Amino acid sequence: MNRSGRDESRPYNMQKLVIASNNPGKLREFRFLLQPLGIGVVTQSELNIGEAEEPHNTFIENALAKARHASRLSGLPALADDSGICVTALGGAPGVLSARYAGDNPKSDQRNNEKLLREMQGVTDRRAHYYCVLVLMHHADDPQPLIAEGEWHGEIAHQERGDGGFGYDPMFWLPELGKMSSELEHEQKHAISHRGKALKVLLEKLRVSS
Ligand code: IMP
Repeated sequence: MNRSGRDESRPYNMQKLVIASNNPGKLREFRFLLQPLGIGVVTQSELNIGEAEEPHNTFIENALAKARHASRLSGLPALADDSGICVTALGGAPGVLSARYAGDNPKSDQRNNEKLLREMQGVTDRRAHYYCVLVLMHHADDPQPLIAEGEWHGEIAHQERGDGGFGYDPMFWLPELGKMSSELEHEQKHAISHRGKALKVLLEKLRVSS
């Protein structure tokens, strides 16, 4: 500890961070995963910070842009994720456009799912995976943000089922479990999901770097 009470073996104060997302499904998941670690979470909307632009073609570029934006405007460390579903037969689409696959006005999980079902009509290769990249910026000019990735493989079902989760979960089929991801309990989803895996990697990197 130094005189100001800051523990110098921990270069960054990670008691509180801002989550650079307003997606209620993701916020619920981050809170659930970070709370047990004693990391307080404030969302960018609670700080009246608007959403960053996501103009890029790759998940990592969008995540970096989101984290930098939230950290610059809040003065706090920021955690951003960019995630989506990539369907093999569609060349990785919807990919970075997952949240607004069926259009922007307004974004709608239901319409996205309907569009994906239409695109997959008659397609026999149903393979798909969720991808998540997490970026933790200690401050807005951080030259060495922590970066972690996770993937979760499954298939696109022929129809929607289950009311848990969010986004594409009602049509993400997990053959080994015989369930949709919308039919998993919170804990079960986090143990195997793209976001759960990425967060596990990120937390390990945090532990090593602090
Ligand atoms: P982002 O906010 O730009 O990262 O958009 C992510 C989008 O990908 C979400 O709006 C969902 O459509 C989809 N997505 C990402 N993770 C999940 C998940 O765990 N379940 C269902 N859909 C997801």
